[in-house]
Amino acid sequence: MSTTERIPTQTDLDTLSLQLGRPVRDVVEIGARCVCGNPLVATTAPRLSNGIPFPTTFYLTHPLATAAVSRLEAAGVMAEFSQRLEGDEELASAHRAAHEAYLEARRDVGERAGTGPVPEIDGISAGGMPERVKCLHVLVGHALAAGPGVNRLGDEALALIDAEFSPQRCQCAGAWDADADVPTRDLSRHVRRLEAQGISNPIQQSEGNDD
Ligand SMILES: [Zn+2]
Repeated sequence: MSTTERIPTQTDLDTLSLQLGRPVRDVVEIGARCVCGNPLVATTAPRLSNGIPFPTTFYLTHPLATAAVSRLEAAGVMAEFSQRLEGDEELASAHRAAHEAYLEARRDVGERAGTGPVPEIDGISAGGMPERVKCLHVLVGHALAAGPGVNRLGDEALALIDAEFSPQRCQCAGAWDADADVPTRDLSRHVRRLEAQGISNPIQQSEGNDD
């Protein structure tokens, strides 16, 4: 996605909170979008605003996608993938390359977000990479953010859930309660940056009035 498409609007942040049913924190970009424009993946900076290192850069948020991936996990696909990694050197190599791509993407996100180096998580990606498969949501989140051909097992998992969810096919209507109250306020770095620049944020202002 282009830089402009990645920058989260307040509506994006509200949508993420509604999709997850909790306020999102420290989301710096939208990692992937539905064809309709709704967020599919929340990109979080490698260091949270409270200082804690955060390795999981790409978080799958779309409820249909997360539910479909959970069903894959429940059906034993992680064990199947892990077993294949042990017996297939070419796949294992692709998985290690996905790990490297993840680390590189995270460095880029950190640079764009201005968080600087995060030595605490150097060489540590997520989801079990580079050697194992411990969370398919992580692999699918990365596959959606990176596009096809970067995270092989993430691509495979996406193909397996294609009947239920696809980034190319909008099924957003009814997938979450878009009319619900947004779960509390957003404290993302992006909003803070806007505030630091003196750009007003109606949600923060209204909450400020309540204090
Ligand atoms: Zn959509």
